[in-house]
Amino acid sequence: FDALQKVDPEIAGVVLDELDRLRGGLQLIASENFTSPAVLAALGSTLSNKYAEGYPGRRYYGGCEVVDRAEQIGIDRAKALFGADHANLQPHSGANANLAVYGAFLQPGDTVLAMSLPHGGHLTHGTKVSFSGKWFNAVSYGVDPATENIDYDQVRALALEHKPKLLICGGSAIPRLIDFAAFREIADSVGAILMVDAAHFIGLVAGKAIPSPVPYADVVTFTTHKVLRGPRGGALVCKAEHAAKLDKAVFPMMQGGPLMHAIAAKAVNFAECATTEYQDYARQVISNAQALTSGLADAGMRPVTGGTDTHLALLDLQGLGVSGRDAEARCDASGIVLNKNAIPNDPAPPSVASGVRVGSPSVTTQGMREPEMARIADLIARAVTSQNAAAHAEIRAEVGELVAAHPAYPRG
Ligand code: PLP
Repeated sequence: FDALQKVDPEIAGVVLDELDRLRGGLQLIASENFTSPAVLAALGSTLSNKYAEGYPGRRYYGGCEVVDRAEQIGIDRAKALFGADHANLQPHSGANANLAVYGAFLQPGDTVLAMSLPHGGHLTHGTKVSFSGKWFNAVSYGVDPATENIDYDQVRALALEHKPKLLICGGSAIPRLIDFAAFREIADSVGAILMVDAAHFIGLVAGKAIPSPVPYADVVTFTTHKVLRGPRGGALVCKAEHAAKLDKAVFPMMQGGPLMHAIAAKAVNFAECATTEYQDYARQVISNAQALTSGLADAGMRPVTGGTDTHLALLDLQGLGVSGRDAEARCDASGIVLNKNAIPNDPAPPSVASGVRVGSPSVTTQGMREPEMARIADLIARAVTSQNAAAHAEIRAEVGELVAAHPAYPRG
């Protein structure tokens, strides 16, 4: 960091300001976390310099014998951690991992069946603004209006009607566990490839806190930076029969040179995830999300599906008469970082939204437990229902006390 300060004080200032922002507020974005200093060290290493197109032992560049070790260690750790036949750690992001799956199994115009974005899916699951909706025939399923959980009957009916080549489950705002066996059965009934986009919950799987999709899916894609707590990036694990196809789709079809520093950081993260400490963490993430959700429900924010089994909750704020957009802004003013989120069948446009999404990965990494979740629920409730700058300043001061007692990163 000394070198950065000397060469570029402006960007060094940005880095320090961001650290202050992270430490100074409550980070409740469900897709974020505080990765470890060990992961950050690998990310900031000279492995960034190396071109290594190809895979360990079969590269298109010389001098890859050292980075080969990092990638092979990472692959072996991922396979062991998830009980998978094969792993590819090269996708630069979760979206890239998903793109590779489309590239491996589909031709342009082929049909894909996935959860709609407003019901909890992801952009890459068939929205019109993404490659997935532009280049493929995307059909969407959603949630049952009564339970607000995935409507498996609808998934089955749409699969039979449209005969997708690719069936996707997983998403960005699904608080409940997914029935992977049901998706496998539906995929088999129409001869579809089953992809589980586990970006959000793969950390809970790694920590053995929820059931794994790996035995059911042809391919599981994920990001490495959410509950998993690794570097920002993507990865996939798959059945042996799909390994060669998927490897070719990641490189050379969709990407060029792999980010070897990020791959090494993924390897570090997988080793961290194989510990009992991480398993305790994963269980606590869920307990904290449940405690936070029940506190918010008591304050009049209705949890979509009635609660959560995972690290995130979606809260419907219509009962409070506050939009998701206003709630996000009021929380921001109070030092609480969360995001507005559409709820299923939301009457408001996505830029306004009727809900917010909260997640427990970051605050759990900070060592907070159920008592702190009750306090956070109270702070959120006060922030959301107040339009008064002085009240927000008061809440911000209380947030400051709470996070000071649970620092995100050691000072120094
Ligand atoms: N899939 C899901 C379910 C996600 O939630 C996300 C990101 O939030 C992605 C894919 C994309 O990951 P990335 O932002 O790394 O491209």
